[in-house]
Amino acid sequence: MSSTPSEKIVEYHTLQRKFFESTKTRSVEWRKDQLRKIVSFCTECGTVIADALTKDLGKTAFEGEVTEIEVTKLEALEAIECLDSWSATEYVPAPGALMPSFCEMRKEPRGVTLVIGPFNYPFSTGFGPAVSALAAGNTCIIKPSEMCPATDKVLRECIPKYFKPEVLAVVSGGIPETTKLMELEWDMIFFTGSERVGKIIAGAAAKTLSPVILELGGKSPLIISKEMPELQAMANRIIWGKTINAGQTCVAPDYVLVQEENIEAVLEAFKISLESMFGRTNEQIKNSTFSRNVSVEHTKRLLSMIDDAKSHGGKVIAGGSEYGDAEAKYFPPTIIYNPGPKSKVLTEEIFGCILPIIPYKTNGDAIRYVNSMRGTPLALYVFTRIREHFDFFMDAIPSGGAVHNDVLLHFACSTIPFGGMGTSGYGKGHGKHGFDSFTHTRGVLSKPCKEIFEFGGIRYPPYDRYGGFS
Ligand code: NAD
Repeated sequence: MSSTPSEKIVEYHTLQRKFFESTKTRSVEWRKDQLRKIVSFCTECGTVIADALTKDLGKTAFEGEVTEIEVTKLEALEAIECLDSWSATEYVPAPGALMPSFCEMRKEPRGVTLVIGPFNYPFSTGFGPAVSALAAGNTCIIKPSEMCPATDKVLRECIPKYFKPEVLAVVSGGIPETTKLMELEWDMIFFTGSERVGKIIAGAAAKTLSPVILELGGKSPLIISKEMPELQAMANRIIWGKTINAGQTCVAPDYVLVQEENIEAVLEAFKISLESMFGRTNEQIKNSTFSRNVSVEHTKRLLSMIDDAKSHGGKVIAGGSEYGDAEAKYFPPTIIYNPGPKSKVLTEEIFGCILPIIPYKTNGDAIRYVNSMRGTPLALYVFTRIREHFDFFMDAIPSGGAVHNDVLLHFACSTIPFGGMGTSGYGKGHGKHGFDSFTHTRGVLSKPCKEIFEFGGIRYPPYDRYGGFS
């Protein structure tokens, strides 16, 4: 992969700053034009993008289309439709003491923005946030993950056909290029990636006082209550959410807590789901609908996690390291029952296709288990027929987002905010919430300047002219 030279990075940044200062990006029509270009890019280059996703992550064209290209395109289409109302100035009343006054909240672009992406959804998270950035009237530089060279190449080659670099530019590279980018001043940085690198980005941004949104990962728990919904439908949803993109999904259920009376039934249903989706364990490697891991190292890390879980008392229920092939970047979907709390699968973000299952007795036990884990989950999933139980878990377990009786779908729902809390990040993306993150809401007060509104000059010194304060 060819990396963008430092001088080019600085050149893009300078070009964008100058262009932003021309005030051309403020016009709503200009913004809509940029969003239409994104729609054209997704439509006209859809096949090459999908091919690149297959090369980088073994995603099928269908999965790439649905989980990356289409969501980005839909987000741009929604922004085109809603931009007039999202960007409209809001008028609010002034408090009585400031009357007569006229108050507005103007929705203004922030300026020159930066999007840094992770490897797992290299198009929708590496490029997607640029939709919100441009909709909000900013310029944008994207730095996709170097671990997905094919997607990076498509972005680098195709984007200049639609956008001038003063509006949207691509910087290719890894740590040195990101470090160079982070030396510059930004009006917003949208970083998606790991907690470890999130801290590096936030630290570097602090030096230039550049605002940051951090979309990070962590361990998202899934709880199956005693009053679980329809068994096989539930199992299919969970197995789908865990196996899509070979488990390399920030909001994938990381581990599952099952009320002990349901354990046997749930494990059996999970095995049925796995087999119906990917075939028998020894045949799954040939199944082209199951994605590959991003790298050999990542696969080896997962394989060693299984051995570690077994050494901590975990019992393999489906899959297992003997079916893996690190060189082929293939890791079999694996279910492991009750590994000890110190095992790596329960202390590190798994980010792969291992599903630990932990039994619990009471709802209170489940809550204590989740809250004893380090960090705030990005997502919380609860499967229960009883809404009050869902609310009970919601009140007791903080998380970035949550879903009742399904998984992952909140990520695709642009009408609700998406983002983390605590160690899973801060700031929000998607739809209007993404637009708002890239927008500066400027509070403006206007007042008639007339003697009659001076109210005897009470606000002016000397303040002791009425006898002072005691
Ligand atoms: P990562 O943090 O390793 O890399 C993300 C980006 O940071 C890449 O572009 C990379 O080039 C850059 N980077 C890496 N090391 C750096 C350093 N030392 N200095 C400066 N830049 C550096 O993340 P990843 O492995 O690509 O992605 C997986 C992580 O992302 C997981 O933790 C996952 O949960 C998280 N994630 C979160 C979301 C979300 O929306 N919250 C979405 C996808 C992935």
